Amino acid sequence: MQDPVRYAEVPSIQAALAEDYARYGEHTGCYQCGCYVCGRLFYAARPHAVLCSERCNQDATLKRRREARLSERIRTCLTCGVEFQAKRKDTQYCSAACKQKAYRGRVTARVTAEIPK
Ligand SMILES: [Zn+2]
Ligand SMILES: [Zn+2]
Repeated sequence: MQDPVRYAEVPSIQAALAEDYARYGEHTGCYQCGCYVCGRLFYAARPHAVLCSERCNQDATLKRRREARLSERIRTCLTCGVEFQAKRKDTQYCSAACKQKAYRGRVTARVTAEIPK
């Protein structure tokens, strides 16, 4: 069975399916679908096709990957405990202020530790 995504990409098949659809309406082997990436209406041989083209298929994959990557970067700030979106994978603080505070805290701790009692 051929992939409806492939059908959507071939203009001649699209034209044939569109003609079919106009004449007989929705029927087995000819369905009008909306691409969920670009919103374009297209015709597919299978119902519930959601991607009009290989390009949209790639866009959808990239979008999913980007979202997965972003959700991996939800961090908890080591200083204030707030959840934030890390811009880099090694970010540990929600803001420069918290980073500063943590740095100062470390320095203070070291200085305190080094002071002989
Ligand atoms: Zn599309
Ligand atoms: Zn913070």
